Amino acid sequence: MTPTAIQATFDTMRAGTTARRVSFGLTERRAALDRLAAAVRANEATLVQALSDDLGRPMAETILIDYLPVLQEIRHARRHLRSWMRPRRVAPTLATFGASARILPQPRGVCLIIAPWNVPFALCLSPLVSALAAGNAAILKPSELTPATSALIARMIADTFPPDLVTVVEGDKDVAQHLLALPFDHIFFTGSPAVGKIVMAAAARNLTSVTLELGGKSPTIIGPDAELKQAADWITFGKFVNAGQVCISPDHLFVHDSVKDRFVTLLRARIARAYGKGPASPHLARIVSDRHAARLTDLLADARQKGAQVTLDQGADGRAIGPALIEAITPEMRLDQEEIFGPLLPILPYSDLGQVIDRINARDKPLALYIFDRDQTRIDRILTETTSGGVGINLTVVHYTQSNLPFGGVNTSGLGSSHGHHGFRAFSHERAVLRNRFLALPILFAPYGARTLRLIGLIKRILG
Ligand code: NAD
Repeated sequence: MTPTAIQATFDTMRAGTTARRVSFGLTERRAALDRLAAAVRANEATLVQALSDDLGRPMAETILIDYLPVLQEIRHARRHLRSWMRPRRVAPTLATFGASARILPQPRGVCLIIAPWNVPFALCLSPLVSALAAGNAAILKPSELTPATSALIARMIADTFPPDLVTVVEGDKDVAQHLLALPFDHIFFTGSPAVGKIVMAAAARNLTSVTLELGGKSPTIIGPDAELKQAADWITFGKFVNAGQVCISPDHLFVHDSVKDRFVTLLRARIARAYGKGPASPHLARIVSDRHAARLTDLLADARQKGAQVTLDQGADGRAIGPALIEAITPEMRLDQEEIFGPLLPILPYSDLGQVIDRINARDKPLALYIFDRDQTRIDRILTETTSGGVGINLTVVHYTQSNLPFGGVNTSGLGSSHGHHGFRAFSHERAVLRNRFLALPILFAPYGARTLRLIGLIKRILG
C-alpha cells in the first residue's frame, strides 16, 4: 500500500469515528466478531500451510498457539461483551454526595496494531478482537518475516471487513514507521523491547496512548521440592514449542543443587521422547530466517568459547536447530545477556534462593517467571520478593491462554495488558460521568461568609 493510500484509509477511518460511536453497538460488534471467527475457521488449512512455509511449524503447534487462541479470545469477548460495554456505576464520595457517578467505556477511535513474526496470526488477530469488541476501527501491520501468514491475514481481512473498519498494511519497518507518524488514537505493539522504545517515542509525538507487549529473559526456578518429572514435561513444552521462539518461553533455569542431576537426566529423556536425536524432527519448528539461525549458533559458539559446557547439542542444519542444554554459564556470555528466543537452554545450579532472587531483581523485569516447587513458603517468598508480567507455578506458557488474567509485562517487558476484559479496556477510553441529582455543594460557593467557613471546618473535621 502506498503512503497516499495509507493516509486515505486512515482519513476515512477517522472521519467515520462519530458514526461508529452511534452505530457500532453490541449487535454490530458481536456480528463483526462472528465474521472474524467464521473467517478464521474457513482459513484453518491455509493457516497451517502458511506457518509450515514461514516457520516449518508442525500442524499441532499452529492449531495450539496460533489458531485456537484467536477463537478462544473471540468466544470469551462475545460472551462477556454486553457486561463489558455497560456503564459501571461507582459509589458516591463525601464531596459528591447527591451526584451519580458512572464509568462509560468508549471506543478510542482508530487503532494501530503492529505484530511480530513468532506467533504471527494470533498476535495480530487477538488484539483485533479486543479492538473490535471495544468498537474501534483498526489498521493491522503484520510482520514481514512471515510473508505467507502476512498475506493470508491481508486476504482474509479484506474478504471479511470493509476497509474503513479493518485494513491490513503489509510491509517492513519503513512501512511501520510511516504508520507510526499518523495520529492514531491508540497503538498496540507486540515485539522486542528495542523496537518498543521506537514505537513509544513515535507515539509521544502525537501523545497517542500505547500498549506495549514486549519480551526479555523469563527465568524459571526449580526448587528442592519440585515434582521433577512434571517440571521436565512443562519445560520441554515451554522451551521448545515453536523452537523456543516464544516471548514467554523459559529463557534459563535455576535448578537447586540437590535435584540438578536427577532433573537434567529427566529433562534429557523428555527432550529425546519429544524430538528424537536431531534438529530435523517433524515435531520441532524451524528458526524464522537464516539471520536468526546464525544469531543462535553464534550465541552457542560464544558461550563455548567462554567456557560453557554444552551437555546436550543436537546440532544445526540451516534453519533447523535442535535443543541444546548449556551449563557453566557466566555473565560475560551473550547467552546470559540477550533474550535467547530459540531452543538453547542454560541451566544454572544454585543453593541459596536469596542469590537467585537478587540476580532476577538486578536485571530487567521479566515478562514471565516460572516456579516449580511444592513448598508454599518458598513460592510465596519468590512471589513477594520479585516481579514479572505473569507467573506460572508448576507450569509454563499456558497462563497466556487464561482470558480472565491480564497478559502483559512490566517496564522493559511491556506496558499495559491484553486479553479478555483487560484487552477491551486497553482499547477503550474510560470516560468519567458525574451527574448532579441533589448536590449540596453550592452552599460552599462564594461569597464565603461565616456559614461557609463553619461548614468547611465541619468537613475538615470529618476528613481528619
Ligand atoms: P520486532 O520488534 O523486531 O518486530 C515487531 C514488529 O515491529 C514487526 O511488525 C516489524 O515490522 C516492526 N518493526 C521492526 N523494526 C521496526 C522499527 N525500527 N520501527 C517500527 N517498526 C518496526 O520483534 P520480532 O523480532 O518480530 O519479535 C520478537 C520479539 O517480540 C521478542 O523480543 C519477543 O519476546 C517479543 N514478543 C513479545 C510478545 C508479547 O506478547 N509480550 C509476543 C511475541 C513476541
